[in-house]
Amino acid sequence: MNTEIVYDITEGSLKRAADIILDGGLVAFPTETVYGLGANALDSSAAEKIYAAKNRPSDNPLIIHLSRAEDAEKYCITNDLYYALAERFMPGPLTVILPKKDIIPYTVTGGLETVAVRVPSCETARRFIEAAGVPIAAPSANLSGKPSPTQARHVILDMYGRIDMIMAGEDCEIGLESTIISLAEPNPKIYRPGKVTYEELKELCPELTISEAVLKAHKGRPESPGMMYKHYSPKAEVTIIDASRSERIAFLRDKAECGILCYDEDAELLCMPYAKGIGKESSPEDQARLLFARLREFDEIDEVKQIYSPMPKAEGVGLAVLNRLIRAAGFKIIKL
Ligand code: AMP
Ligand code: MG
Repeated sequence: MNTEIVYDITEGSLKRAADIILDGGLVAFPTETVYGLGANALDSSAAEKIYAAKNRPSDNPLIIHLSRAEDAEKYCITNDLYYALAERFMPGPLTVILPKKDIIPYTVTGGLETVAVRVPSCETARRFIEAAGVPIAAPSANLSGKPSPTQARHVILDMYGRIDMIMAGEDCEIGLESTIISLAEPNPKIYRPGKVTYEELKELCPELTISEAVLKAHKGRPESPGMMYKHYSPKAEVTIIDASRSERIAFLRDKAECGILCYDEDAELLCMPYAKGIGKESSPEDQARLLFARLREFDEIDEVKQIYSPMPKAEGVGLAVLNRLIRAAGFKIIKL
């Protein structure tokens, strides 16, 4: 397939993108979280093409992207809590799960009776959705299993020749996928942590809980099917080191042939050929922004067969970083 790469987001290119969507095609676009791979959410066969382009299992549902929070009314059964969350966090990196209306095809929801909705804050994403005039179903624009794309070049590497258009915009500001909260359960529940934290959501949802699948290998089908699959993995094996700073540094000293994700303050001490900083230990926001790009950088170094990472604290945005790392590592954690 011929893939058009657009570097200048103009009225003309947005119109071409919108035409592709209305014709049932696929367009990758930047958002503030990660790049999305979009199709018309009201067109079942367009949504099917997303699964094929990504090699994504068909029971792993897509998020529908809207330009205004109140548009959710047309596609799902909203409630007061949805609007309270929308008021505080939309547009932004929060996805809400609600019971779906008939207009949303089951291909989009992976067969579920619920649908996930989000209103991105990224200007290009918003203009694209408005130009299309339909909700845009989109998972991350990577091949299934790989780290999500946070730069246009990641999307080009994974999707060139597989989709109709790539909007090559800016690097993603947040770098991890949205927080997913379900309002379709007896009590609100976080299915996937992200930039909008448990602590922030708890202020509006006192009964909030976090799905067990966020940090543990689940038995059976998790509430969010995306948590079922090994995810976010570079080619090399990833292992998380659960240890104090001094123990971690001592352990890594003779691992010169390995890829090392490290906090910035550890990089100088380690002085290793394949050590890459992911921000300071005190800045989970930086770690979130850099994690996937760093994992992908190791794919370009043939020597690296093993990657070690520190273990961020499971609080605030750190919970999201830890959740992605644990999946990248396939739950492999060494406790020193
Ligand atoms: P991605 O944006 O690539 O991370 O994919 C969308 C994520 O949203 C997947 O992990 C899905 O499991 C999750 N998701 C989407 N819709 C639903 C839903 N109705 N119920 C539970 N999880 C969902
Ligand atoms: Mg994804």
